[in-house]
Amino acid sequence: MIFFEKSQPGPAALEKEKGKASGTYLLPEVLEQLIMDFKNKCYICENNEIISMNVEHIVAHRKDPDLKFDWDNLFLACSHCNNTKLDKFDDILNCTVLEEDVEGAIHLKMDPYPFANVQVSARKNNHRVDLTIELLKLVYNGSTDLKSHEAINLRKKIYKEIIDFQVLLGQYITAKEHNDDEALKEYRRFIKWKLNSRSPFTAFKRWIIRDIEGLNREFADLLSS
Ligand SMILES: [Zn+2]
Repeated sequence: MIFFEKSQPGPAALEKEKGKASGTYLLPEVLEQLIMDFKNKCYICENNEIISMNVEHIVAHRKDPDLKFDWDNLFLACSHCNNTKLDKFDDILNCTVLEEDVEGAIHLKMDPYPFANVQVSARKNNHRVDLTIELLKLVYNGSTDLKSHEAINLRKKIYKEIIDFQVLLGQYITAKEHNDDEALKEYRRFIKWKLNSRSPFTAFKRWIIRDIEGLNREFADLLSS
């Protein structure tokens, strides 16, 4: 999970829909603004270019129109995460509030081997961090039989992304050892893209950089891009 800045104000049409007997929040302008703000990624698992897109209420609306049409309560998620979250997780960290520091509060790691599980751990001690961690473990490592199979597919994508990142870091270090400034510049540009919030599974790659001192020295300046 990483921080996403939610653009303000939200679409004005939401307020109009709220006043209707059968109003909907699934408006074209709502979808467009959510896709832009969340960089076309699921805010929970960080998969990108999702093909099963859901508009998720971070606090379940339970037919309360104030929550149902509140722009600040609308998030972009994939159906796997939306269907895993359910009502129990109303009080998770809010990744659109900078002060909640979701990225600093939750450490994510997956060893780059087939069938490895995702390791999720707390870097801050509070109930909401623990609840968010519980959700992320279910999302990444599975819950029901069906969702466990979905989670395997999700982890295959994370695995591939981490391997690509690992190769890129290796190429950068080789270029550095050979004083190849041109290649160095090029690889650094690719690494910057991999650490950008638009890239899939950014939190995993940023934690690799933070966890390894030599990489942190080299790329710490790219962690907030
Ligand atoms: Zn997801």
